[in-house]
Amino acid sequence: MHFHRFDEPGKVKLDKISEEPPPNVTKQEARDRLEKIGEELFELQGWMWGAHTHSVLLVLQGRDAAGKDGAVKHMSGALNPRGVAVTSFGVPTQEEREHDFLWRVHKPAPRAGRFAIFNRSHYEDVLVVRVHELVPKSQWSKRYDQINAFEHELADNGTRIVKFFLHISKAEQKKRILERLEDPRKRWKFSPSDLEERKRWDDYMAAYQEAIRRCNTPWAPWFVIPANRNWYRNAVVSQIVLETLEDMKPKLPAPKLDVREDMID
Ligand code: ADP
Repeated sequence: MHFHRFDEPGKVKLDKISEEPPPNVTKQEARDRLEKIGEELFELQGWMWGAHTHSVLLVLQGRDAAGKDGAVKHMSGALNPRGVAVTSFGVPTQEEREHDFLWRVHKPAPRAGRFAIFNRSHYEDVLVVRVHELVPKSQWSKRYDQINAFEHELADNGTRIVKFFLHISKAEQKKRILERLEDPRKRWKFSPSDLEERKRWDDYMAAYQEAIRRCNTPWAPWFVIPANRNWYRNAVVSQIVLETLEDMKPKLPAPKLDVREDMID
């Protein structure tokens, strides 16, 4: 089964990309494919763990209600939990603000053999920070190059970085916000700031577009994921992670001992 891929995020025009799955992909097909992907992913993760030379960093970005939590749950559920750590990035603490913006991101970057999943990330420092001018433009505008250099350093040290923008439409966001308001089991997820941020829809669009264009590098590519349907979002994210692992070609770890049958009583 073939999923739609965006090969040139460096030239991306977000308003030209559909948030819906391509019409030829069915939910059932995606589910079937996911099951296979899951098995392969789990196995290759084990090899990466055994080899202990490389790691994977998954970055999830998207607007409010775009499904970041759902994607994190899906990806972390597909992996062996001993080898995956999830970090969520909220408003920086006083201490974090008093350091350079990458300070808080470096430590949770993954160790050899492991996955790290970032729910929001250092990209907030060119997204919310830019939209709300939390620091002057002279400062945030330098961050694209700083991010590229930082990601390059991680990549040079064995980390494969894959970045996902979960792309939802304005109408879908409204639907999800209304669900949060109307469903007592979802109301806790609603934050009044969601409405304020929604008013800045176009500003965010411009900020995401620039981040994706300027920080789509060979060592840390961006993928724009049509995310109006959760089943499609999950399938595409998994597929990309699997392809990344396959491309890394982790070696089957060597056995520690050549055990013969007669050694086991
Ligand atoms: P979420 O909305 O991801 O479920 P939270 O309710 O904790 O989680 O929201 C995190 C908030 O932190 C978001 O509004 C986000 O814009 C903000 N945030 C994250 N990183 C930064 C940053 N570097 N500077 C300012 N705000 C940030």
